[in-house]
Amino acid sequence: MHPNLNTHPHRRYNILTEEWVLVSPHRTKRPWQGKTETSDKKKQITYDPECYLCPTNTRAGGAVNDDYKNTFVFKNDFGALLEDTPLFDFKDGLLKAEGEKGICKVVCFSPNHSLTIPDMEIEDLKKVVTVWKKEFKELSEISGINYIQIFENKGAIMGCSNPHPHGQIWAQYAIPTEIQKKTHSQKKYFEKHGTSLLQDYLSQELAEDIRVISKNDSFVTLVPFWAIWPYEAMIIPKRKMANILEMNEKEKEDFAGQLKTLTQKYDALFDTSFPYSSGIHQAPTDGRSYDTWHWHMSFYPPLLRSATVKKFMVGYEMFAMPQRDITAESAAAQLKAL
Ligand SMILES: [Zn+2]
Repeated sequence: MHPNLNTHPHRRYNILTEEWVLVSPHRTKRPWQGKTETSDKKKQITYDPECYLCPTNTRAGGAVNDDYKNTFVFKNDFGALLEDTPLFDFKDGLLKAEGEKGICKVVCFSPNHSLTIPDMEIEDLKKVVTVWKKEFKELSEISGINYIQIFENKGAIMGCSNPHPHGQIWAQYAIPTEIQKKTHSQKKYFEKHGTSLLQDYLSQELAEDIRVISKNDSFVTLVPFWAIWPYEAMIIPKRKMANILEMNEKEKEDFAGQLKTLTQKYDALFDTSFPYSSGIHQAPTDGRSYDTWHWHMSFYPPLLRSATVKKFMVGYEMFAMPQRDITAESAAAQLKAL
């Protein structure tokens, strides 16, 4: 890698979104006098009678959770999207809006209130991946569901009020902006080169081997060259697959393994239950062909230099573009060493 990238301010290009991030490696030694957050210490109870996700408890909407033993899925009682919304078009001069319908679900990863992904056994994480596949398949078969977002918000710092291990699935009519960008970039690359953008990117990353955190037979976990968040990471399947349904049993196990490895490294980094938003980006489900899509999972963690110092996207970042100090290479080296 060019030495200037370790020392001088520069912009890096995100090949998937076609956007830029400003990197300022010379600033990593400046003193910190900003806000610190309270460290998220884990509670060690397996059942909380007040938790709306624990087995057999009654949720705010009145429904009662199953006495589940592994995973449990239900429709969000207060979902941001609703199934019976009319699909209307509003246009008045320069004002434009569209009705948006969808389904919001909650996926409990385990009945144990205090477990998190890094604490879970690979066998149990495989069950979570199986549920993601099952939900993706069922939702994709519903007419009017054109995109499915699987994601997790972990930690109070990320706005997640409940420590019970769970994620969400939002399935909707419109194809969101991030997915439109990534559909465009991958299609454009494939038409020009005849190969998958992310497959070629992986080949370069594996050869260079300075941003790879971990890998196994089917997946590579790395800090992308264009990372915005300090310890941002991606888990990318080595084989081009448009969505998670294409994963075989061996790949499911390897994916679960990388999920555990990355999140364990995260927890070890600042000796805390590491907060993040993670999500799986995959091809739309609107019935068109998306064979240039290569699905991947991204982790956007907010912590900057300890369990209590968070990165804020403010000022220049709100008004111009994202900016980071610590380089992707330095973040990857720290995570790899753990
Ligand atoms: Zn709970």
